[in-house]
Amino acid sequence: MKEVTRFAPSPTGLLHLGHAHSALFAKKAAGPQGRFLLRIEDIDLGRCRPEFETAILEDLAWLGLTWEEPVLRQSERLPLYQAALERLSGEGLIYPCFCTRKEIEAEIAAAGGAPQGPEGPLYPGTCRHLPKEETRERIAAGEAHALRLDMAEAARRAGPLTWRDRKLGEMKAEPEALGDVVLSRKDAPGSYHLAVTLDDAAQGVTLVTRGEDLIPATSVHRLLQALLDLPLPEWLHHGLLLDDEGRRLAKRDKAATLAALRQAGVTPEEARAKAGFPGPL
Ligand code: GLU
Repeated sequence: MKEVTRFAPSPTGLLHLGHAHSALFAKKAAGPQGRFLLRIEDIDLGRCRPEFETAILEDLAWLGLTWEEPVLRQSERLPLYQAALERLSGEGLIYPCFCTRKEIEAEIAAAGGAPQGPEGPLYPGTCRHLPKEETRERIAAGEAHALRLDMAEAARRAGPLTWRDRKLGEMKAEPEALGDVVLSRKDAPGSYHLAVTLDDAAQGVTLVTRGEDLIPATSVHRLLQALLDLPLPEWLHHGLLLDDEGRRLAKRDKAATLAALRQAGVTPEEARAKAGFPGPL
């Protein structure tokens, strides 16, 4: 089987060495016979910028990477996400959530805390059982809302699930750890979890490579694959590149951006070595 992998950055800043590690990892995982795709994850309209997308393409080419055209942009695929949301809605698995971040924090404080998920406290479920009438009226009045997965019900319907990581082996899916995740944001008709799952399936990705910080998210994607009858890829989670102080690289680390390294006279070979892939591509 021809391996199909992808690198899927969000154009919300300049690529740094951590991204280079991820991109090179995905390219290597495709192998010389496989296909390596590039996908721009730009549904977060408030934070994504076209100039960052241009910079991503430049930086990856400078690094020596080649990828299969066309480059997919999530902002062009919103009808696909919409169709999946309608299906899940028809099955009674998602619900509108009007809460603001502040309201969620206040609700959690009033309840004396909330179970902690890997990404922070879980959504307390405020809007899960709003009367249908109230929900309809608030939507009709134009009130902004997200769509959340009713996790307990979704997990119950899907039953026990596992997923396979090529390094870690067979993993038990534990999507409940993330609670009622957002599948459609207030400001965009989709979310990371929904879009990444649908696009990996649509693009025929056979091996999803990503940082190990996203292992909890993989369980949610596995659940969505089950709910939406999507083909099953395998996964390979990689360790995160750390800076000299042992901290995770972030977009704020300007010195580690590929653009800064290039300007400082670092060669593509040297940058690849710094990103954990010495030697020819
Ligand atoms: N857009 C995501 C990121 O930049 C992609 C992660 C993934 O591969 O699922 O973190």
